[in-house]
Amino acid sequence: MLQRGYAAAMSKLGVLAVAVFAALVALIVASSVPWPPLGDPVSPRAVVVVIDAGHGGHDPGAVVAGIEEKDVVLYLALRVLALAEAEPRVQVLLTRSGDYYVDLRDRVRLAEEVDAVLYLSIHANANHSSNICGVETWVHDAVRPGESSWELAERVQAAVVSTTGAADRGVLRQPLYLRHTDLPAALVEVGYLTCPQERTLLLDREYRERIAIGIVQGILDFVW
Ligand SMILES: [Zn+2]
Repeated sequence: MLQRGYAAAMSKLGVLAVAVFAALVALIVASSVPWPPLGDPVSPRAVVVVIDAGHGGHDPGAVVAGIEEKDVVLYLALRVLALAEAEPRVQVLLTRSGDYYVDLRDRVRLAEEVDAVLYLSIHANANHSSNICGVETWVHDAVRPGESSWELAERVQAAVVSTTGAADRGVLRQPLYLRHTDLPAALVEVGYLTCPQERTLLLDREYRERIAIGIVQGILDFVW
């Protein structure tokens, strides 16, 4: 009882200290910052873009010749994040930045909570046939041409095909968890791990960089 009273008194003191500090800071800021701010015209506000590295943790995605999709796509997502740092008009947020699994609904929920202008998931493909190679971008199956998700998919598809020179397999509709959001949302399959020559390229640092550059370009093309 005594301890609880002491703790309450201390916490009241703490609140008071924070309030006094905040008031002092406000006073200093108010007296030193000119308003309106001097300098260059206000730059356009950055928009928030959510990039998702597919799979993660217990879910490796496609596994071919010891290569796990989750690792390839995490690398790409981190490169997109790094490249976008040079682009003041976009702020990239990742749904995961390490090897762990995030619930699919939570991935799109995050995008909505941060008021993102788009959601883009990065994957690598697999097929029973090793002859199938190339880049394709998916939207969920209710999306029609001309809708914003379709536009996003087309821009990303065109840009990644352009920077990589990969075969263009186009925009495809699939039943996807992307139906759980109204945001423009797409999923880019950056190549087939089951296609031998593409698998080699997906492990190549320079080729990966071209994919990441294409993704950033596609995003910029969609937003502006
Ligand atoms: Zn995948």
